[in-house]
Amino acid sequence: MARLCPLFSGSRGNCYYLGSAKKGILVDAGRSAKQIENSLLYNGLDIKNIEAIFITHEHSDHIKGLRVLASKYKIPVYASEGTISQLEYNGTLTQAFPYEIIDKSGAAVADMFIEPFRISHDCAEGYGYKINTYDDRKVAVATDLGYISKEVKNSLTGCDTIVIEANHDIGMLQNGRYPYDLKRRILSDKGHLSNMACADLLPYFTENGTTRFVLAHLSAENNIPELAYQTAVCSLSMAGIKENSDYILSVAPAENKNGSIIF
Ligand SMILES: [Zn+2]
Ligand SMILES: [Zn+2]
Repeated sequence: MARLCPLFSGSRGNCYYLGSAKKGILVDAGRSAKQIENSLLYNGLDIKNIEAIFITHEHSDHIKGLRVLASKYKIPVYASEGTISQLEYNGTLTQAFPYEIIDKSGAAVADMFIEPFRISHDCAEGYGYKINTYDDRKVAVATDLGYISKEVKNSLTGCDTIVIEANHDIGMLQNGRYPYDLKRRILSDKGHLSNMACADLLPYFTENGTTRFVLAHLSAENNIPELAYQTAVCSLSMAGIKENSDYILSVAPAENKNGSIIF
C-alpha cells in the first residue's frame, strides 16, 4: 500500500512524505531538519528511508530545512533548472550532497516514477509533482498555484489522490490586514489558489477517477480549515458527488499528528 503523509503544510512550512512503509521521498523540506526528522518519527516513518527530496520552488516555506537535512543524510535533491540555480545562488545547495535537474522526462526513485509539471507562481521555475507509486497508484502534489493552468489540470487528471492548494478565502483576504500589494500578489495569476478556485475544479477531477483530496497550504491568516473544507464539499455536492461514497476529503494540518494516509 502506498503512503502519503503531509508532515507540514501552510505558510509556516511544507513537507510531504510519499512512498511505502519502507522507502520513499519527500516533496519539499520547509521546516527545520530537526522538525522534519521528528515529524517522520512521530508518524511512523524514518529519515533513513528517504531516497530523495523533490523541491517545488525556492521560497523559504519549502526549503528551510533542506541544506541541513540533505547534508546530514546525503540525500539527493531534485528540482527544476530555475529552482536549482536559485538554490545554488543562495547557498542552499552545496557539495555535501548530490543534486540534479529534473525535467519533463521524470525520474525513477524509491520504486516510484516522479514527473514534474510547471506551476504558475512568483518564483524562478516552480514545479508540482505527480508520483506513480510501485503499486500503480497516482498521487499529485500541487500547491503554490496562481491558477490551475492547462498543464496542471492535465497532470492532475486521473490521479487517485490529489494534494491541492486551498490557500485563502477571498473575502477574508480582501477584508484582512495584509497590505494592498501583498493582497494583490496573492490574488494574482502568480500567487495562491483560493478555496473557491480549488473547489470549482474538484467535480471535474472526481469525474475523471480521483477519489481522495487533501486540501493543503492553507493560510493561517486568511483561511480556516472548516471553511476550506465546506467550500470543497459544497462544490462537489452541487455536482451530485457524495462525500465518503464518491470521494474522501481531508485538510492537511499545519503539523501532522495523525499518521499517513494509505491509498
Ligand atoms: Zn511560494
Ligand atoms: Zn508556499
